[in-house]
Amino acid sequence: MINLQNLLDDVKCYETVRPLRWPDGVCCPHCGAAEVTKPGRDTTQPARRKYRCAGCHRYFDDLTGTVLAGHHPPLRVWILCLYFMGLNLSNAQIAQE
Ligand SMILES: [Zn+2]
Repeated sequence: MINLQNLLDDVKCYETVRPLRWPDGVCCPHCGAAEVTKPGRDTTQPARRKYRCAGCHRYFDDLTGTVLAGHHPPLRVWILCLYFMGLNLSNAQIAQE
C-alpha cells in the first residue's frame, strides 16, 4: 500500500518508485545490462539516483526510460496522478482517502 504521506517527501517518493521501476534490480535501459555502478545522485534532486552502465557506459537514473523522465514538475505530482488514477487502489479506497 502506498502511503500518501510518503509521497509528500521526495526521498520517500523515490523509495516508493524505485522498486516499481526496478522490480528485478537496476538494469540499463539502453542495453539491458544488469551490471551498473552508482556514481552519484542528481545534483538538483538528491533523492534521484544516477547510475552508470557497466556494459555500454551510458548514464541513466531512476526515471530514464519511463514516462516520468524529462518532466520538470516534482516527481510526487506524477505519483499522485498515478495514485489517483487508481494504481494499486480501488475506487472505494480513493474515496476513503
Ligand atoms: Zn547499458
